[in-house]
Amino acid sequence: MRSTARVSIVFFVLAAAALCVPGRPAASGGPAHGPAVSAAESRAVWIWGGTVRSEGPEAVAEAMKAAGVTDAILLVKGTAGTVGYPSAIAPHAATVDTLGPFTDACHARGIRVHAWLNYHQDDAFGARTKNAYSIWHVRTMPAPPSSVNDGRICPLRAQEEYNAYFLAIVDEILERYPVDGIHLDYIRYPHAVYCFCPAHQAKAAAEGIDFTRVRTLLNQTYYAPADQTTYFDAIASGDPDAVKWAAMRSSEIEGVVRTVREAVDRHNGRRPAGRRPVVQLSAAFMPEGALSNLVTDRARSDQYALAHYAQDYGRLSKWLSFVAPMAYHKDYGKPASWVGQVVAGAAAKAGPNGSGVWAGIQTYNVTPQDVVDALSAARLNGSSGFALFRYGTTTPQAWEALKPTIADIREATAAAAEAGWIDANLLNSFEQKLAAAEASLEAGRDGAAANQLGAFVNELKAQGGKGVDARAARALAADALWVSDLLR
Ligand SMILES: [Zn+2]
Repeated sequence: MRSTARVSIVFFVLAAAALCVPGRPAASGGPAHGPAVSAAESRAVWIWGGTVRSEGPEAVAEAMKAAGVTDAILLVKGTAGTVGYPSAIAPHAATVDTLGPFTDACHARGIRVHAWLNYHQDDAFGARTKNAYSIWHVRTMPAPPSSVNDGRICPLRAQEEYNAYFLAIVDEILERYPVDGIHLDYIRYPHAVYCFCPAHQAKAAAEGIDFTRVRTLLNQTYYAPADQTTYFDAIASGDPDAVKWAAMRSSEIEGVVRTVREAVDRHNGRRPAGRRPVVQLSAAFMPEGALSNLVTDRARSDQYALAHYAQDYGRLSKWLSFVAPMAYHKDYGKPASWVGQVVAGAAAKAGPNGSGVWAGIQTYNVTPQDVVDALSAARLNGSSGFALFRYGTTTPQAWEALKPTIADIREATAAAAEAGWIDANLLNSFEQKLAAAEASLEAGRDGAAANQLGAFVNELKAQGGKGVDARAARALAADALWVSDLLR
């Protein structure tokens, strides 16, 4: 027996969620949010280039295949601004190519590769340009704003040089490597106290924003009397200067994502028909912006996230195949159920744009049970995939706890029926298919086991939202497909 309770928590969380929806009968299918049962769950993991170099691309790809990973998100451009391949544009992070051999090793095993690029901080670019595009801090009044002179770039002055540099790197990667995705990170402002550079001052004036007033609101929030709320209250109450300032920043971030989308689309348009699936564009998000209208310890979380990060899930997801909220619950001092709240909020904002939600799950400073519980909470709230952060911190115990077995699925199916999430008259049919799959596996007939699991999934597809609660159907199908993938 494994020490991690994979199954019971799924239906504990499910049952608890049901209790929170007054008047919602059990096994009714519930709201239509979240992907359909038929959509395969993406099982991703973020990985640093240094980890690939120290363990070797073949060994890492093999370990990922053994865990059932479908998507590897490789850090290609981090905050240092160096890149994980020999670029003609950016300084190389190492003496060997990491991206090429790793992509080949993953593709040989049916694993997709996303090139993960950090946007708002680039120390190498900052040093090369002598911080000419560095963000400016608001500063404590009456001191004037001034440059922080580090690698963090002002998103407005990025339009003068940095964005072209960033897009050239994207183009270079897409031209040279058969990656399956571009994954953006730090696609946001670092904090509300940025950016107050001369260009932003001029833009504020052109847009009729009282620059000094915005500074005053922020000073009241953080410096005197440091009430932590004035600026957020101003946005929430529709203060024109605060609202327009926040909208201006948000628009700049959307502009960056839109131009990367255009670059990816140009590349996709050049692909010969029938070749690999088109390159996806995705991004990692701070979790706060997903939490508006949900229970948080900060009532105005939407304004809080907008004011700090200018990272709008609804606005940005129009350009993205999926959003990955970094729902690192332990870092926020939250229980695993909070991951479900973040995913539900992200799905509500990104879903209407056709963008999936991959739950970013913390695997550092946590137990294997935390990881399993976070995945359960994500699935039951509409995730279409998950991404573990990160490969180097995911312990063998966590991988083992995450990987489902047919016994796990049998137990979960029984628990779901017990909880009223599966119609009693359907249970026998589900159990027969799972028992048959288990017997095939024990007899060494993996192909037959996979087919029987496929029949189980097909029945869940047919019954999801009818005889089986839609969320339970998705969770059970995701596990069955995972086991099936491991049998290949
Ligand atoms: Zn600026």
